[in-house]
Parts: sequence; structure tokens; C-alpha cells
Amino acid sequence: MEDCIFCKIIAGEIPAEEIYRDDTVVAIADVNPQAPKHALVIPRAHDATIGDMVKRDGEALAGHLVAVATKVGGNFGGSGYRLVVNTGVEGGQTVDHVHVHVLAGRQMTWPPG
Ligand code: AMP
Ligand code: ZN
Repeated sequence: MEDCIFCKIIAGEIPAEEIYRDDTVVAIADVNPQAPKHALVIPRAHDATIGDMVKRDGEALAGHLVAVATKVGGNFGGSGYRLVVNTGVEGGQTVDHVHVHVLAGRQMTWPPG
């Protein structure tokens, strides 16, 4: 999709530190990390929100997205990690292309802001 920063990263038009890539998802380092380790797992197909993605594509891509995120989190090597999917305005989403945050490397707190 035009003017989508994550579509441009996936197309190689904007540089990013790529951690993982397969046929349907990519994982990159977040440019503004909120923890010592912070990756984003991004489906290659453009959907604005995870809800839109599930409506369009069903459960398979959602399952794969979470499975890759758990691998990235496990590879970070600590005693745990956090997966976050900010969704919509009140969900705090700022980039309207689905992505799973994988945060690790410090003790997480609850509740999130
Ligand atoms: P969200 O607020 O949940 O939509 O998260 C968007 C995330 O994308 C933020 O954590 C940003 O730091 C990250 N981000 C924005 N632009 C880039 C970029 N060019 N490369 C890597 N991460 C980015
Ligand atoms: Zn996009």
C-alpha cells in the first residue's frame, strides 16, 4: 500500500534491521526501542489492524504471526518477553499496518500505560 511505512520496509524501499523473513511475515528491530530488545513482527500483506487481518484472512496468518513472535521472543534469550498488539486509536496504534511488538531484556510492569 502506498504511503505505508511498513509496506515500504517490506518492499526494501526503507532500510530496517531485519531479524527474520519468510513468505508471509518479516521481523525487524524497532527504531525506537522501549526495552533493551524490541522487535516488530509484521505480516507482508497490508491490513490496518489485526481485526481487519483476521476478517480478511481467517486464523492461519494470525496464528503464524504469533508463532513467529514467540520464536523471536525466545531467541532474545531472557527469562521472558512480552507480546503487544496495539489496535486502533484507544489501543495506542500509531502505524496502521498490523504488527506484533516483542519486548524483552528488562522486567516488564503491569498495567501498561
Ligand atoms: P504502534 O504504536 O503499536 O503502532 O507501533 C509502531 C512502532 O513502529 C513504534 O514502536 C515505532 O517505534 C515503530 N517504527 C516506526 N517507524 C519505524 C521504522 N522505520 N523502523 C522500525 N520501527 C519503526
Ligand atoms: Zn502496509
